[in-house]
Amino acid sequence: MVDVEVSESRGAEVGGLSLRRSLPQRARRTIGAWCFADHYGPVAMTDDLSMSIGPHPHIGLHTVTWLFAGEMLHTDSIGSEQLIRPGQLNLMTAGQGIAHAEETPRTYRGVTHGLQLWVAQPESTRHGDPAFEHHADLPELSVGSAVVQVLVGSLGEARSPARQDTPMLGLDVAMTSGRATIPVDPTHEHGVIVAAGEVGIDGRSVPTDSIAYLPDGRGEVTLDAAAPARLLLLGGEPLGETVVMWWNFVARSHDEIVQAADDWNAGTSATRGQPGRFGVPVSSHLERIPAPATPWSR
Ligand code: MN
Repeated sequence: MVDVEVSESRGAEVGGLSLRRSLPQRARRTIGAWCFADHYGPVAMTDDLSMSIGPHPHIGLHTVTWLFAGEMLHTDSIGSEQLIRPGQLNLMTAGQGIAHAEETPRTYRGVTHGLQLWVAQPESTRHGDPAFEHHADLPELSVGSAVVQVLVGSLGEARSPARQDTPMLGLDVAMTSGRATIPVDPTHEHGVIVAAGEVGIDGRSVPTDSIAYLPDGRGEVTLDAAAPARLLLLGGEPLGETVVMWWNFVARSHDEIVQAADDWNAGTSATRGQPGRFGVPVSSHLERIPAPATPWSR
């Protein structure tokens, strides 16, 4: 069928790990408010290879950390310190500004496999306060040949406790061989990111490290698998506005991005007794990451 669009992820490197990026794509910047998706691993952590991303800032987005395997330690500039394990959700809200660091705990030497996703905040919340949530008890249910965990939004009666600033969906779908038909909101557009194995959607093959885009107007997504597969099903109302994304910032104009980069590079430590835009210094042994020069000069 013509209305499933399949694109390959592209390679990138973040924090010492090579990964595959499925969002943004040149032709498809957002799916609902989902605007960024990096898939890393499965890869074994060693003394020489681990994820370590020093303190860096964000504005205008939520970060979603989701692990299939491994452990990750999150620290941020509003005082959160949180170890995350598979099946748990870290949801950080940047609003007008937050900084955080993420790393594989030095005691962890197993396999790491997961995704880092971003969600663009709407105008109504993007200038607001930063926040952080950790959810260790998300709803899980069986749908056909799949076990589904609800990260964000709802599936039938199962509703995630996670914050959402716009109506959206984030499901982890673990398939055995067979079929799963997942009811979805027809006003949402959807994306399927395959992290392991291969699934079929409307007869189109979607292999590991590709993303299928499904436009709004469908009431269900039918997934077929000939062997075990793992994927995320993301959805949301089409954003309806153009966001400007650069480095770790999501905004609406170049000026906002340049200002955020300047504010970060000017330092995050308290000045005259007031915390800076990006809060208190992140408690991390890792080095702070400066903003590179923006492509737009003032
Ligand atoms: Mn980050």
